[in-house]
Amino acid sequence: MKHRSRLLLPLAAAALSLFPTLSSAQSYPTKPIALVVPFAAGGPTDVVARMISGPMGKSLGTTVVVENTVGAGGTIASSRVAKANPDGYTVLIHHMGMATAPALYRKLPFDPLTSFEYIGQALDVPMTMLARKDFPAENLQQLIAHVKANKDKVTLANAGLGAVSHLCGMMFMSAIGTDLTTVPYKGTGPAMTDLLGGQVDLLCDQTTQTVPMIRDGRVKIYGVTSTTRLGALPNVPTLDEQGLKGFEVKVWHGVYAPKGTPRDVTEKLTRALREALTDPAVVKRMSDLSSDIPPVDKISPDGLRTHLQAEIAKWGPVIKKAGVFAD
Ligand code: ASP
Repeated sequence: MKHRSRLLLPLAAAALSLFPTLSSAQSYPTKPIALVVPFAAGGPTDVVARMISGPMGKSLGTTVVVENTVGAGGTIASSRVAKANPDGYTVLIHHMGMATAPALYRKLPFDPLTSFEYIGQALDVPMTMLARKDFPAENLQQLIAHVKANKDKVTLANAGLGAVSHLCGMMFMSAIGTDLTTVPYKGTGPAMTDLLGGQVDLLCDQTTQTVPMIRDGRVKIYGVTSTTRLGALPNVPTLDEQGLKGFEVKVWHGVYAPKGTPRDVTEKLTRALREALTDPAVVKRMSDLSSDIPPVDKISPDGLRTHLQAEIAKWGPVIKKAGVFAD
């Protein structure tokens, strides 16, 4: 009898030690949640985060606070969330940079495939090839001719290695066979400020930021990176139809939590993300910005995991072939 009680006590203690986690997961959330954005405020990722944070908070019965953690093409924010307490109060929204980082950064302080629990896919956002308003080229052909003739003078902004503006810029330079001087920023929010101010010449950026500037005529646009024209910009041709065959960049987004976050918690986050992305006001705003909300089954852990795995497999060889490394 004595032997059994000695065995039972540790088992009971172990079971009891689970209760705080189980009970906190069941009562989750009891305080505000940080939604970490890997780029500067005002940029396209920040726009998406601030659009879904309200409806997500409403669904969860708490406040979702957007926190911008910038640098290294989104890997600093991703590392922060990967190392955060897995309690559901620190989550990350990031784009396809999560899939290109393993090829770009040889010493990555996290692993996209093992450091996170997956909440779901968020949005697919096309990109636009822009110049400052007074740039001396009225269409893509004139842009390519001017860039080739003045390659040492033309500047191309991006948000750092791992940013989609960097990837789009790299693809553009490769497509026209000309390398330009690139100017890195902490996000395309500040890059756009300099484009509008005339301090930088070109920028490839997502429609979630650029549609208002294009509509107001505050920038010049040469094409969109989707394979078909965009509803919000019907008169803007695709880069593909103008001769840059196969030029396509569609920026997908995902929401992540640290590995070990309890399933009760991640399921509540997935439900809240789904409700936010099907909120009529969000659906309308995203349509106005030519961004697609994925099918509901993709707004799920498996939907994000499967897509991320495929994207890592797709972009790894492309980046290695381009010989681009961040470290
Ligand atoms: N999406 C980034 C931002 O919001 C920019 C980029 O990845 O190019 O700043």
